[in-house]
Amino acid sequence: TWGLVREELVKRVGRNNYVTWIEPLALRDLNGGVARFEVPTSFFGDWVSRNFADHILSHMNTSGFAVDRVEFAVGQSSRIPRPAEKPAQPVQAPKPAPRAAAKSRADSEELPGAPLDQRFTFDSFVVGKPNELAHAAARRVAEGGPVSFNPLFLYGGVGLGKTHLMHAIAHELQTRQPHLRVLYLSAEQFMYRFVQALRERQVMDFKEIFRSVDVLMVDDVQFIAGKDSTQEEFFHTFNALVDQNKQIVISADRAPGEIKDLEDRIKSRLQCGLVVDLHPTDYELRLGILQQKVELYRAQYKGLVIADGVLEFLAHRITTNVRVLEGALTRLFAFASLVGREISLELAQDCLADILRASDRKLTIEEIQRKVAEHYNIRLSDMIGPKRVRNIARPRQIAMYLAKQLTPRSLPEIGRRFGGRDHTTIMHGVRKIEELMATDSQMSDDLQMLRRQLQG
Ligand code: ADP
Ligand code: MG
Repeated sequence: TWGLVREELVKRVGRNNYVTWIEPLALRDLNGGVARFEVPTSFFGDWVSRNFADHILSHMNTSGFAVDRVEFAVGQSSRIPRPAEKPAQPVQAPKPAPRAAAKSRADSEELPGAPLDQRFTFDSFVVGKPNELAHAAARRVAEGGPVSFNPLFLYGGVGLGKTHLMHAIAHELQTRQPHLRVLYLSAEQFMYRFVQALRERQVMDFKEIFRSVDVLMVDDVQFIAGKDSTQEEFFHTFNALVDQNKQIVISADRAPGEIKDLEDRIKSRLQCGLVVDLHPTDYELRLGILQQKVELYRAQYKGLVIADGVLEFLAHRITTNVRVLEGALTRLFAFASLVGREISLELAQDCLADILRASDRKLTIEEIQRKVAEHYNIRLSDMIGPKRVRNIARPRQIAMYLAKQLTPRSLPEIGRRFGGRDHTTIMHGVRKIEELMATDSQMSDDLQMLRRQLQG
């Protein structure tokens, strides 16, 4: 299918280009040697056709599609990926020739891992407050010393750098200790390898390979939730490696305890090591990431000028997802160089209108909790914790109130994000603040300010 062919294009065009230009393409029609793709805007179609049509064409042909020509037309359904949306993960058949993540042994034996993105290194990872713990833990694992926590469990929302950090660990380990057998793959790939092994009656081989690695990294482990035999196998693999004192690194989009349909024994195993979360980015981190990217682009787009304030504007406005932030910058540079103009604020607003619009709506409960905690100088963990003293309970209620006001979440959903509180507790909190606002002018000033800050 196109989905599979498309993924292979990552290697040709690079990940950034892939995410920005290839992923949003929707194959609409393949007829008479013409492949028709739907694109979100005409500029987009223009750009893809200038820069990637040849790649797409030749790659489709080598993948068994008979195509002479590719066309791009503006359509409804394809669009720029939105922040906080899971990237589409088409169900894929097992790849026939898995590439090894680690070519560590001289012989031809290959580990069934996923290829590593060369750009996901520690050098290119910008550290800020929201990710400093995760980064430090990843660094520790990458030093390859004695195992000090097992597993390292990294979690956080989409596009916050989990995969980047895992690849960075793998790169670093391979540089420092080339003999190490480092296996990185997604939980989805783990499942497909396992299913394939079952089908081909090679389960013993499967077990042997997975239990003989020195470092196992499984990305997006939430994927195996609800997949019973895969969970089972994962559990045994996990235990076998821990018993041998081999390092395991796991990522997920949420904390172990929060993953639905994951067996309890696996949850508790995952909690045994070090669990760290990547928090949503803050303004400084986003600006740092943009500045770093601009440095990289300078070589590619010589002479392009960025007006003052553009990066600040983007860091301010595109708040949820680093991938979208990067995509925005990529598009901006491409567009500016296409039309030969300086990157001004107006150009950014025009060229990124869709992204900016999509970004506007996103405000997470966690951001609200963080902001309110900061404002009242309490710990974020107290927002979800059980303490009932007034100077903690009140800010917590304020955060509940703002969550109700500023996000589309229901009371039970909000309750869940406040440490599993009941929806009636949330309702009570919201009412309390409404009452106070009517009588307490300090409170209503505070709220107004918080709301302004949160909505930017
Ligand atoms: P996740 O796996 O958490 O969904 P990724 O690791 O795929 O997120 O990151 C998405 C994109 O954002 C990648 O291109 C990655 O390089 C970039 N990115 C995320 N965090 C950082 C960071 N702190 N510094 C530099 N790039 C980052
Ligand atoms: Mg990822």
